[in-house]
Parts: sequence; structure tokens; C-alpha cells
Amino acid sequence: MLLDVRNLTVTLKTESLQVDAIDRMSLSLRAGSIHGLVGETGSGKSLFARALTGTLSDKWHVRADRMFWQGEDLLRLSDERRNQIISRDIAMIFQEPSQCLDPTRTVGEQVSEAIPNKDLSGGFFSRGSRRKERVIELLKRVGVKRYEQCFSSYPHELSEGLCQKVMIAIAVARRPKLLIADEPTDAMESATKIQILRLLQKLNQSKDMTVLLITHDLEAVSQYADEMTILYSGQSVESGSVKELLKNPFHPYTDILFKSIPKLGKLEAKTRLNTLPGSVPPLQHLPTGCRLGPRCPNAQKECVVTPKSVKTKGHIFSCHYPINQSK
Ligand code: SF4
Repeated sequence: MLLDVRNLTVTLKTESLQVDAIDRMSLSLRAGSIHGLVGETGSGKSLFARALTGTLSDKWHVRADRMFWQGEDLLRLSDERRNQIISRDIAMIFQEPSQCLDPTRTVGEQVSEAIPNKDLSGGFFSRGSRRKERVIELLKRVGVKRYEQCFSSYPHELSEGLCQKVMIAIAVARRPKLLIADEPTDAMESATKIQILRLLQKLNQSKDMTVLLITHDLEAVSQYADEMTILYSGQSVESGSVKELLKNPFHPYTDILFKSIPKLGKLEAKTRLNTLPGSVPPLQHLPTGCRLGPRCPNAQKECVVTPKSVKTKGHIFSCHYPINQSK
């Protein structure tokens, strides 16, 4: 296992509010896999990723029972050692890549800066040319066709899709073991979106780089991910292999999510789309117990108590009244 997180809680503490935005969430990432982390906007997906990488501001408090990285518990290490491991082995890309790049510097300068010195062979004086060769190599690897032109361009001269490829080149320059892609294709047109997702898949297969794909796009996850975890309002509802979950979801929320996507092939022609009434509750008004309660068609009295995680038939789910149990 590359990463094994148990019961991670992220608490927001302000003068007027103290609330668990992420409530005892667990996630296991198999080395070499693509794992989808799926949820509606406001479900806490990005917050979870930032808690993992230690990039949250002081108002957020993170605790967990364990956080194993390749068998080593990060929680038992000093802050300095933990940060060293995270910055060496984990890279992250975000939505709106053009906003993440420095508008005052060329692509070549920005990719070049991400390349570690140890990757450059030859003496000190040949480093400049080796660095440029390596940047071009990275741009080619992420599928930039006009790489020479891209090398000397500024971010505002590039499309959003190209900016994301540049961000991916920067991220993979350090050869990370895990790439966290936080809504990497949000607001992109469909052809560009497919290009970026295929690129992540290619890097995963050829470089054996594990990918945590954070998205609300269930269709993309069903096509590109091996495993997935579904998050609702800061609580993990179900996780397992994508094939298994698609075939036989145990959690009512998973079932409704799948039934709301016509392309997943679960709907007959002209069937009404299944959707849940209401929306994800705001942090100030989180329901007690299972947070899906007020929207759940199967809710009963017992649901005011947070359900425990249950592992059965390759699924891990949290629900007092799971569905599809007889199959
Ligand atoms: S625990 Fe209750 S409210 Fe939550 S998903 Fe299951 S049935 Fe619905």
C-alpha cells in the first residue's frame, strides 16, 4: 500500500465556529493505481488533499489515527521530516492551471526550476544546456507538440489545456510517487478534458505513478480509475474497485450518483434521471450522525448516529441500511 490513512478529521476552528469539516475519513491508495475521489462541490475533497499534503492554514486542525506512507507513519515523524517526504514524493496539480503559473516568467523558466540538480548529468558548465534538454523532454512527454514555442511562451499566451500540460510537466519533473490531480479538467472543453485524462493515464501506466484523481466527474472516474472513494459532506460513504461499485453499490448515495449519469448505461431510454432533493449542507448546519440523512430516501431514526465503516465483499461503506445486500 502506498498510502493508508485512517480516521482523518479536519476541524475548522474560528471564534464563532468549531466544526469537523472532514469527519473520520479513511483512504487507502494502492501503489500504481488511479484512485478517484468523488463528491459534489463542497463535499471536502480538496480539503482532504490539502490536509494530506500539510498545506492548510492555521485555522484548520488535522488529526488522524494513522497516516502510513509506504509503511512509515507520517504522524510519528518530525514536521521537518514529514515535509521532506511529502515534497519529495507527492506532487499536486489544480483546476484553473493558468492561475497557478507565474505570469511574469516563461514556461521554460518555470519547468526548469522544478528539475532537481541530481537529474542533470555532466559538469557544472553543461548544466544550462542539460536543463533545457530535460525541459523539452518533459514538454514532449506531456504531449506538447510545439515544445520549442511553448518553452519560450508566457502562460497568458497558452490555452488552458496547454497550461495544464505545463503544470503536469512541472509536477512530474521530480518523479513523484503520487500525483494528486485536483479537478484537473474542470471547465475544460470535452476534447481537452479527454487529452488531459489520457495523459494522466499514460503517466500512471508508463511511470508507475499513482494518481489520486479528485473530481465531481463520475463519468471520468468510471472510465479512468481503478478504485474510487465517494465522499459526502466530509464523510466517506463508500469505497472499492470501480467495476465492483458500478455493478453493485451498497450505499444509497453511491446508487443515486450512478443513476444520475445516463452514460454509465444504467438507464433505459427516456427514464427520468434520479437526483437527490436539496444540496450538500453548509458547514454551519451539518446534520447529526449520517450527514446524508435529510436527503436520504432510506433514512430512519437510527441514522442520527454516525454509521461505522463496514468492510464486506471488497467494499467499505458507512450506512445503517445498505442496499443490494442479497446479491
Ligand atoms: S445511514 Fe441512514 S441516512 Fe445515512 S445513507 Fe444510510 S440509510 Fe441513509
